[in-house]
Amino acid sequence: MPNSRLYVTDAIVLSRFDYGEADRIMTLLTPVHGKFKAIAKGVRRPTSRLGGSLEPLAELRVALARGRTFDVVTQVQVTHAWLRLRDSLESAATAWYLAELADRSLEERHEAEALYALLRRAYELLDAGMDSGRVARWYEMHLADELGVRPEVDRCVECDRMLEADESFRWVPPLGGVLCSRCPGPSAERAGLSVEALKLLKAYQRLDVEALAALRLPPAVEREVEAAMRDFLRVSLERDARSLEFLDEVRSGRRPEP
Ligand SMILES: [Zn+2]
Repeated sequence: MPNSRLYVTDAIVLSRFDYGEADRIMTLLTPVHGKFKAIAKGVRRPTSRLGGSLEPLAELRVALARGRTFDVVTQVQVTHAWLRLRDSLESAATAWYLAELADRSLEERHEAEALYALLRRAYELLDAGMDSGRVARWYEMHLADELGVRPEVDRCVECDRMLEADESFRWVPPLGGVLCSRCPGPSAERAGLSVEALKLLKAYQRLDVEALAALRLPPAVEREVEAAMRDFLRVSLERDARSLEFLDEVRSGRRPEP
């Protein structure tokens, strides 16, 4: 008889911390079971069978037993080690950043096939030597899509007018994208967005990774788009978390609906 407490899944380790004398608690991302925490007992002992296999920045095949608080890792096999990804400090640091974004974007135990595939693809691209900044921007743009907050880069977020190349733009993440020159928007605290940066943002929405990898771009434009996407995701993830908190409060009846 199969033991229904046991299951096997593909997984990528998003984060981990040491627990007790020799255990480690891992946050795993899996396609079907989504994100969840699992415990690897005795993994920090030199004699552990799990030992070095249960590593981040790799795709694993993990066997788990359902537990009361945490599911327990019973077996691990490395299916993709992505060794070249770890060779460069920059691509390894980027990989950690992408894992953290996935972690912050997901609720526990919600199916996450699309996000799993996205992170896995990003790790493959880093391993293949694609520029880590390009991989990160491509991932951020598609993550925003998955979260339902695709940045608006074609029309003004305020008046819905098509943006024209000869006007000036402002990047306003709290409004969801680009503001045209005719709309006042929230105070002028936001710096302008160059037309080159706007084009690159569009490219991240439209081009496939091969085309993105081949683009020749001035470093200043790449930096502008990096700052823009970071701002955008910070605002989106915070707003998301706050809105979920509010929704939970409303549902629990602790607060009247607005
Ligand atoms: Zn406008």
